[in-house]
Amino acid sequence: MAEDGSVTVRVPAKVNVQLAVGGLRPDGFHDLANVFLAVGLHDEITAAPAGAPGITVTVTGPDAGQVPLDRTNLAVRAAELLAARHGIEPRVRLHIAKDIPVAGGMAGGSADAAGALLACDALWDTGASREELLDICAELGSDVPFSLLGGAALGRGRGELLTPLDVGGTFHWVFAVADGGLSTPAVYRECDRLREVSGTGATATDIPDPEPSRPLLDALAAGDPAALADALTAGGAGNDLQAAALSLRPSLADTLAAGTRAGALAGLVSGSGPTTAFLAGSAREAELLAGALRDSGTCRTARVAASPAAGATLLTPARTP
Ligand code: ATP
Repeated sequence: MAEDGSVTVRVPAKVNVQLAVGGLRPDGFHDLANVFLAVGLHDEITAAPAGAPGITVTVTGPDAGQVPLDRTNLAVRAAELLAARHGIEPRVRLHIAKDIPVAGGMAGGSADAAGALLACDALWDTGASREELLDICAELGSDVPFSLLGGAALGRGRGELLTPLDVGGTFHWVFAVADGGLSTPAVYRECDRLREVSGTGATATDIPDPEPSRPLLDALAAGDPAALADALTAGGAGNDLQAAALSLRPSLADTLAAGTRAGALAGLVSGSGPTTAFLAGSAREAELLAGALRDSGTCRTARVAASPAAGATLLTPARTP
């Protein structure tokens, strides 16, 4: 705990190296085979003691203006849920130092929820088990449990039923950040619409159960970027939301083409987009690729990041020794 009694947690962004989307379920969700990889772009969430009851939140960073400051902020919801479960009257000032692009398909809001949960848990000394925290994460959103866990994992169900995966080395990525976000529900709706108009149908009986790609899991376990690139492109693994994101934002095709021209081993839309992710052969190649993407004029900026990254991590110890 810092001298002022506050607790800070660092939490990573993610890329979905595979996002296989099943048919629309009667409850409105889709079954997924979702291969999450945590990447080294981070938000930091600080929970500080407050004099008055209630939860307040402040945000800094380039996209801060797009983040809600009311109860719809996922970090606030995480603090509320933890307090309610433990019968605590919440008194906390949350601060989010935001570096993960907002509405970019990199689970920034989910990251903040997991970070706030861990920070408030330490601040209030609830003694919640890891299982209980993961359970609260799943209630907050499909991507939140993975933000707590980090590393790499296969997500089944809505993505929240996680199996950790082995990663045998470091992968280097470039993320091309687009202007403006895409709404995740809108991208899923577009995916369903495209399936309907193509004649396959969009329901769970029309679409085969989503399965993880064995070559992709093997490439991750081997830490082999060339094999991962093969699995992402030739091997047919990849992102089933990509066509929908491109349909809603056709200019992303230009970004993908610019990354491929500049030597990326593979390029894909990250989750529901509009961030695009490019795999590079090394840290140096990633820097060069990022420069080429920035110069291409097809994105707002380009960021390099390595994976896998650790999940939500306390930067300040929970208690003074
Ligand atoms: P995912 O990859 O999980 O689909 P995303 O990265 O596309 O999510 P987020 O950055 O999580 O998108 O933001 C989606 C929306 O959630 C934002 O437009 C914003 O209104 C809302 N939101 C709520 N809380 C937060 C938060 N703490 N940070 C960012 N956005 C938040």
